[in-house]
Amino acid sequence: MGKLTGFKEFKRQNGSYREENERVAHWSDIYIPQDSEGIKTQAARCMDCGIPFCSSGCPLGNIIPDFNDLVYNDQWKKALQVLHTTNNFPEFTGKICPAPCESACVLGLIDDPIAIEDIELAIVERGWEEGWIKPQPPAIRTNKSIAVVGSGPSGMAAAQQLARVGHKVTLFERNEAIGGAMRFGVPDYKLPKTFIERRVEQMKAEGVIIKTSTNVGQDITADDLKNTFDAICLTGGSTEPRDLTISGRELKGIYFAMDFLPQSNRRVSDLPVKPDFDITAKGKKVVVIGGGDTGSDCIGTSLRQGASEVTQLELLPMPPKERDNSQPWPVFPRLYKTSTSHKEAMATLGHDIRLFSIGTKEFISDGNGNVSALRCVKLNWIMPEDGSRPIMEEIPDSEFLIEADLILFAMGFLHPEHTGLLDDLGVDYDPRGNVATDQSFKTSIDKVFAAGDMRRGQSLVVHAIAEGRKLAKEVDEYLMGETFLRCPE
Ligand SMILES: Cc1cc2nc3c(=O)[nH]c(=O)nc-3n(C[C@H](O)[C@H](O)[C@H](O)COP(=O)(O)OP(=O)(O)OC[C@H]3O[C@@H](n4cnc5c(N)ncnc54)[C@H](O)[C@@H]3O)c2cc1C
Ligand code: SF4
Repeated sequence: MGKLTGFKEFKRQNGSYREENERVAHWSDIYIPQDSEGIKTQAARCMDCGIPFCSSGCPLGNIIPDFNDLVYNDQWKKALQVLHTTNNFPEFTGKICPAPCESACVLGLIDDPIAIEDIELAIVERGWEEGWIKPQPPAIRTNKSIAVVGSGPSGMAAAQQLARVGHKVTLFERNEAIGGAMRFGVPDYKLPKTFIERRVEQMKAEGVIIKTSTNVGQDITADDLKNTFDAICLTGGSTEPRDLTISGRELKGIYFAMDFLPQSNRRVSDLPVKPDFDITAKGKKVVVIGGGDTGSDCIGTSLRQGASEVTQLELLPMPPKERDNSQPWPVFPRLYKTSTSHKEAMATLGHDIRLFSIGTKEFISDGNGNVSALRCVKLNWIMPEDGSRPIMEEIPDSEFLIEADLILFAMGFLHPEHTGLLDDLGVDYDPRGNVATDQSFKTSIDKVFAAGDMRRGQSLVVHAIAEGRKLAKEVDEYLMGETFLRCPE
């Protein structure tokens, strides 16, 4: 374990962030990690619990007490090996995971949990600095060819795992660059794209054939795919956004978050911006409808583009600030969260931009076809004592207007796009519209598998990597009759 009395001696400490007013002037990484001595102190707090709830809380099953102990004992290279046995890309999770492992940490029952995410990031970054992270090309080739369609974290993990056991893997992506929602959704100030690029280089050196700017279903037909490859892995994400089809929806100035964020990331990376979506928040009054990570990313991006005002509307009531009886340890709780973007808004605009329990009734025109305001209403949520679904009612005479000339929908994603590849392949869908699979990640179509948000619905990077690893294990077994690939339970 770390230090026998570490959890009593040391308090939790995280890295810091650049000052809010300074960081909104650029797109660079806002996070300043702790130095290695600070990280060792944090690792020293680990109690090496008999039942490490942290590991079961982590969707990847990361072997957290072991790498904590190795870091405390200055054995960083071994810590990296332990981390990589369960996670292909610890830097992605180390940067943007909401850390369900920390919510499940036993120390969290009596004190602040171990700073697991900081330790994870420090280990992998040390690995890159020291040159310990190298390509792992396979010792043998199998002559089996696999198409992985969609290059988000699930597709990347699946492609890397399958290439390392000798299969000929082609990773298709319709965008110009690899990374999925991490590449074109998550802004650079949270996840610099160099973090993705160095993994792409590693994967190429391991034999993964990368085909970007290739929309499978259009540029390659479903039949071609089936005739060319021994197995097909669908990892296209959940990309159909939830809409709000109320009066005024047709007005100019109303966009989905994933129309707005990608064009910003494209500008930052000097990639061409799609003409129909050359959107900027500069000088605008922005309203973001919906909370969550996507909503926060819209706020931080709008502030960096020079929005004059930002408001965030949430339909649901404000979540509790601490765990209540409905969310006991070690479940991953839904709590009131002040994101880095909320802090930036507070610092630059001078007020909290969040409004909870608000419904939107109408988008109002400026008379020239552009949106100029929203008509909103305050909501009352009734929580039935029998635990059934909360009931929403409008508070009488509570309507109000919010001025807005840019409105961004960040209300989540319904399911993957059906038209095109999925319908052409003829896969079955589950009741929520995601690609249906059995426990082996097989779809209803022979030799076609699916994983990630496309299969489980909108989720998190950590779940996507876990799904990609499970998919790889199943596909390897399907092709070879046995597998030695490791994946989460
Ligand atoms: C704005 C935003 C912010 C987020 N922030 C966080 C966060 O902070 N922390 C976190 O853990 N999670 C976050 N998430 C969620 C996380 O990014 C996703 O859960 C994760 O990326 C899903 O991975 P995936 O591989 O299943 O799919 P995706 O990442 O969605 O990747 C799917 C890829 O498939 C490609 N594709 C689809 N169809 C085709 C086709 N026919 N041909 C070729 N390519 C195709 C798409 O272009 C896309 O690149 C965020 C999501 C968004 C949108
Ligand atoms: S639950 Fe927390 S204290 Fe216990 S082993 Fe895991 S990280 Fe260490």
